[in-house]
Amino acid sequence: MDFIPVNEPLLNGNEKKYLCECIDTGWISSEGPFVKQFEEKMSATAGRKYGIAVANGTAALEVAMQAIGIEEGDEVIMPSFTIISCAMAVTKLGAKPVLIDSDPDTWNMNVEEIEAKITTRTKAILVVHLYGLPVEMDKVLELAEKYHLKVVEDAAEMHGQTYKGRPCGSFGDISTFSFYPNKHITTGEGGMVVTDDEELAEKCQMIRNLCFRKDVRYVHDMISDNYRFTNLQAAVGLAQLERLDEFIAKKRKMGRFYTERLSDIKGIRLPVPTTDYADNIYWVYGIVLEPERNLTNREITKLLADEGIGTRTFFWCMHEQPVYKKVGLFAGETYPNAEYLARRGFYIPSGLALTEEQMERVVIQIRRMMKKINGSC
Ligand SMILES: *Cc1c(COP(=O)(O)O)cnc(C)c1O
Repeated sequence: MDFIPVNEPLLNGNEKKYLCECIDTGWISSEGPFVKQFEEKMSATAGRKYGIAVANGTAALEVAMQAIGIEEGDEVIMPSFTIISCAMAVTKLGAKPVLIDSDPDTWNMNVEEIEAKITTRTKAILVVHLYGLPVEMDKVLELAEKYHLKVVEDAAEMHGQTYKGRPCGSFGDISTFSFYPNKHITTGEGGMVVTDDEELAEKCQMIRNLCFRKDVRYVHDMISDNYRFTNLQAAVGLAQLERLDEFIAKKRKMGRFYTERLSDIKGIRLPVPTTDYADNIYWVYGIVLEPERNLTNREITKLLADEGIGTRTFFWCMHEQPVYKKVGLFAGETYPNAEYLARRGFYIPSGLALTEEQMERVVIQIRRMMKKINGSC
């Protein structure tokens, strides 16, 4: 039987039409007209005034951190359980990530732990909404105001999600998105920084493009990188954005489908469907193995692959990254909930092109697998 990939994007809208337009008109670089259109539409979707499209979501975080002025010696509070792009955007500038443990149910950072980590060096809080539910923003914003901290919001997994009715990507000083193929909206590779602050937006535009001085080209007061986003990427993005509501509805339906069919299985924890402030949009459908099951996510990922089901393990914690340990970062620190998720969490096929028939097969294999596992403990 065919292997079911962990993710397959849906590209059957206007993607091809808009791409052909790029070829026919010759506009394929970052100078093309779709880039601005995509920036305007995407930033409006996120409830922001300005959007600056960049090469990918990692680049978006780097641009955002540089734009808000993070520099050597600064501290940025963020979850340990996240993708390395978040920590890298901080360490590349010579600043230090200060880590927070996870909430075991929502898998987001536990906002109750933030205040104790604030020092005179703290410059910003990096909020990362993970897997489908937003971080509890009220608490974060309250602390940011009290201690005069910047807030950067990584909304890479949250296109179309809201917190208490307000769009994710609209909180704090600056927010970032990714358009990698496993996100709700894809451009192949791609990302965006969004903000309401005109000055920050201008800074981002400059940082995106090698920090050319505004008045004279090829003269630079600062250094950044080439983070530009092409008209080809924007063409795909515009077609994708036309279907955002439909995509979110489909993701929620997929989430309900899995939850209904997996919730009676012992030994696993499923995503929280709803909280006081949001309904899950299931960026991916995550599953966490209970402690008494003597099995890691790496093992179950292999077993399911043998049965034709593509899965991925959860993120690996920042404080356990060899690259950071090597330079003495996070020495002796432990974050038990984050470590648990990193070892026992995995996600199952969740892409927008997934069919009900494929999902049925995924369910059957997981039931079988867990029956065996539960029988042996
Ligand atoms: C995907 C993702 C990123 C990185 O985006 P890329 O486009 O892959 O560079 C950053 N943060 C989060 C939370 C993500 O899920």
